[in-house]
Amino acid sequence: MAAMHTTALVLFSGGQDSTTCLAHALSRYARVETVAFDYGQRHHIELGARLNVLRELRTQFPAWGAKLGDDHLLDLAVLGSVSDTSLTRDTAFKMEASGLPNTFVPGRNLLFLTLAAALAYRRGLQVLVTGVCETDYSGYPDCRDDTMKAMQLALSRGMDQRFLIETPLMWIDKAETWELARTLGDKSGVANGGPALVDLIIEHTHTCYLGDREHRHAWGYGCGTCPACELRAKGYAGFSASLNKASLPAA
Ligand code: ZN
Repeated sequence: MAAMHTTALVLFSGGQDSTTCLAHALSRYARVETVAFDYGQRHHIELGARLNVLRELRTQFPAWGAKLGDDHLLDLAVLGSVSDTSLTRDTAFKMEASGLPNTFVPGRNLLFLTLAAALAYRRGLQVLVTGVCETDYSGYPDCRDDTMKAMQLALSRGMDQRFLIETPLMWIDKAETWELARTLGDKSGVANGGPALVDLIIEHTHTCYLGDREHRHAWGYGCGTCPACELRAKGYAGFSASLNKASLPAA
């Protein structure tokens, strides 16, 4: 009997989370394509980073490169005209009275998933993989597990095709996301694959809200002080601490 789910479309922004999700999909599925959305981000650095990550994955992980198919970039400039957010406009980050950060774009992930499903339908891809997470919770209601399950049902019914929305990071924290990358790298069969994937993520992915590629830290490039950098740095510190603990010689 043929496996039900063998092909995937990864929502791939070029950040740490979506790169880890892409590695997850490449370790699991026979054919994997990627999609990103250009919605007038304040910095196009992230969109450039994703091309570098794709290139490095193909070069450093040939077995994965063989499964990696087309990359799609969809223009979503319309998001900038319906939402006033610090991600699309030149305003400072802060918490709103609603308790949500002003980086929140209402319905953004719902739109992303709907367009991704339409693309997956056309490309014959069955699984949608996205790096949303409830654990290091940024307060985005469209990243919640229940939202994903509702979307899976709505998209599957609405397009009369059985889609699976896969969220490998939903219940793990940022330190565990680094550890997942290390584990996935090990399974790729490349010598020192684990560190190679972690190194690739450090060097080539981009997370910083301010688009800083000048300052290099142990965890990668970024301003070091925006909420995205703080989260990434804290996660990496936790990951390093657990690695060091594991590698201590027995007394
Ligand atoms: Zn930053």
